[in-house]
Amino acid sequence: MDDTTTHHRIAIIGSGFGGLGMAIRLKEAGVEDFVVLERDADIGGTWWANTYPGCQCDIPSHLYSFSFAPNPDWTRTYPEQPELERYLKGCAEHFGVRDHIHCGCEVRSAEWDEDSTVASAEHTRSVHCTGADRFPRRAKRAVNPRSSGA
Ligand SMILES: Cc1cc2nc3c(=O)[nH]c(=O)nc-3n(C[C@H](O)[C@H](O)[C@H](O)COP(=O)(O)OP(=O)(O)OC[C@H]3O[C@@H](n4cnc5c(N)ncnc54)[C@H](O)[C@@H]3O)c2cc1C
Repeated sequence: MDDTTTHHRIAIIGSGFGGLGMAIRLKEAGVEDFVVLERDADIGGTWWANTYPGCQCDIPSHLYSFSFAPNPDWTRTYPEQPELERYLKGCAEHFGVRDHIHCGCEVRSAEWDEDSTVASAEHTRSVHCTGADRFPRRAKRAVNPRSSGA
């Protein structure tokens, strides 16, 4: 580790529905020391990256949303990409996770140390993650490979 290494309890890879959902739930659980590493230039994952004409979801919008963030303002049953992107960015702002997200950071490798239960990820800067054992069970599953899929 060099002096560009940052230390966090959790690093989430990606800011699509999955990464944002994880970030919001961590925040709600009172965990503040986490980062979301996003290789793209902006947040939203699939719904930022795909902008071709007619791009839209094929699941009704009231189902294709976070269960904890229903949106009464959907303009149509099957929203198009710009509306989904706005929804995700709105959630990031509303739930206060925007400042945790680092765009333009591609994770190039990650290691898990069985003995110290510490994970390291290398990207534009190095990130060192500690303390998975101290998280609530629901959050721990997402960061501890031994618990994944449980
Ligand atoms: C055009 C289109 C329409 C779709 N319609 C539907 C639908 O109607 N219903 C449905 O259920 N699903 C649909 N999907 C699938 C959709 O991808 C998922 O529903 C969901 O958005 C995936 O969210 P995610 O967070 O898992 O992944 P993504 O949205 O893909 O987000 C992953 C993020 O991780 C980032 N990332 C990946 N690797 C790295 C790395 N090494 N370092 C840093 N960042 C990284 C990516 O840049 C990306 O931003 C559709 C997909 C597409 C492309």
